[in-house]
Order: sequence, then structure tokens, then C-alpha cells
Amino acid sequence: EFELFYQPKFLAVDNRLLGAEALLRWRRPGEMVQPAEFISVLEETGLIVPVGQYVLRDALAHVVDWRARYQPGLRIAVNVSARELRYSGFLDQYRAILEPHRADQGIDIEITESLLMDDIEHNVPLLEKLRELGCHISIDDFGTGYSSLNYLTRLPADEIKIDQSFVSTLTQSPETMGMITNIINLAHSLSLRVVAEGVETEEQAKLLRLLRCDILQGYFLGRPMPADVFEEVLANLSA
Ligand code: C2E
Ligand code: CA
Ligand code: CA
Repeated sequence: EFELFYQPKFLAVDNRLLGAEALLRWRRPGEMVQPAEFISVLEETGLIVPVGQYVLRDALAHVVDWRARYQPGLRIAVNVSARELRYSGFLDQYRAILEPHRADQGIDIEITESLLMDDIEHNVPLLEKLRELGCHISIDDFGTGYSSLNYLTRLPADEIKIDQSFVSTLTQSPETMGMITNIINLAHSLSLRVVAEGVETEEQAKLLRLLRCDILQGYFLGRPMPADVFEEVLANLSA
């Protein structure tokens, strides 16, 4: 009953579709259960490991197909959680699934800042290996953890995602705006791309473009949608 929804990510300067983030849903008769209600249970029981494997396989199958049929550079990001990263077979599992598609797989990894920092010694080499497999690394919920500047310069990352909580207060709070401006400048000085997530209004999108944010994601631009609906979007764009 698990299923992946896909939420589009757009290049800020020209609204070009770059790819999507895969978000897990539990489809039960008559209702769609959101991750907030079941991810923690999967984590506690360890079931997140096989479920994460399903997520990776499903996202990979779709991105390989979509790249071949619609958009060669398309990328799909999957979220990984603490328990998955601690599982000793994690890397082997990823390698076994991704290696056959190494040349052209288009899978990215989203890992939260706080999770990454929890065990930096263990996680940094892991992320380096994932990059060797062709994955881009995205640091999720950025600004809510405690990355020291010292670490930030050495993280094997390609992208940071400014947390929704900052985006949602951006237009009301000069302090938040100042902070986002500084995060974007800092990230750019380290050659990292910046994604704003949770963009819900046109005003937020405009301001983020002015601040030179690279990529936008949020309900204003596109909600998470079933794979076949996302595929229609791709088909319409390439028609
Ligand atoms: P996340 O990775 O930070 O994902 C972003 C969440 O914000 C998603 O909630 C998304 O639907 C929601 N969102 C996107 N745009 C907007 C917006 O404009 N406004 C608002 N208010 N919300 C927006 P979702 O899908 O309920 O997922 C919640 C969390 O569950 C995710 O947070 C992620 O940490 C976790 N998760 C989801 N799928 C997976 C998965 O396959 N594996 C793992 N390990 N965790 C997952
Ligand atoms: Ca995410
Ligand atoms: Ca996030």
C-alpha cells in the first residue's frame, strides 16, 4: 500500500522543471496517510530499511524511464532517515541498486542537517561514496541544525534546502530575510546550490528570486502528486 508522490523542483530564474522529490504515502482504502503518521513507526521498528529500499527502487525505475522518454537531465531526490544511515548494509544496498545504472541514474539524496551532524565522522565518508555512485547530496531542513562553518566547508554536499519555517516567515520578518540572504550568500561562496522549500505564495517566490535563490519548491509551484500525474506534466512539457 506504499506509494511515492513526486513534488516538482523548478529553476528559479526561468521556472524550468529540474526534477522532483519523492515523498512516501500510505494508500489505505478511503484515505491517504501522510509520513508524519507512520515514518517514526517505521524507524522504531527498523522497517524503514526495506521501505527505504522500495523507495530507492521505485524512484530509480521512474527516473530512468522519464529520462529516456521526456527529459535526459531529470533528477529525482529521495529522503533518507537516521536508521537507514546507521544500518551497516546501507551502502551495499544502494550500490547494488544504483551500480547497474551508474552512467545515467539521476538519483539524489536528501539528508537533514541535524541527522548529518549527529554523526559526522560516520556520515561524511558515506555521502562521499554515494556521490561516487552519481548521487547529488542535498542538506535538508537547513538552518534548523547546528552546522559549524568549519564543517560546512568540508561537507560532501551539492545543495542545501532552506527550511520551510524560514520561507514561511520570509515576507513578514526582516530578521528572517536577513538570515536567508546570508545563508544564500554563504552557500554560493561554497559553490552550493540553494533550494527554498515550502514556497506557498507568489510574493515568497519573487523575493527568493531577488535574493538569488537557485531552485524553488512548494505548493505555489506544484504539490506532491502521484507518479502518473507527474508524468503528464513531463509529457506536456516535452510535447
Ligand atoms: P521533508 O523531506 O522536509 O519534505 C517536505 C514536506 O513538506 C513534505 O511533507 C511536503 O509534502 C511538504 N511540503 C511541500 N511543499 C509545501 C508547501 O508549500 N507548504 C507546506 N506547508 N508543506 C509543503 P510530507 O510529504 O508529509 O513529508 C514529511 C516528511 O516525511 C519529509 O519532510 C521527510 O522527512 C519524511 N519523508 C517523506 N518521504 C520519505 C521517505 O521516502 N523516506 C524517509 N526516510 N522519509 C520520508
Ligand atoms: Ca526532503
Ligand atoms: Ca525539508
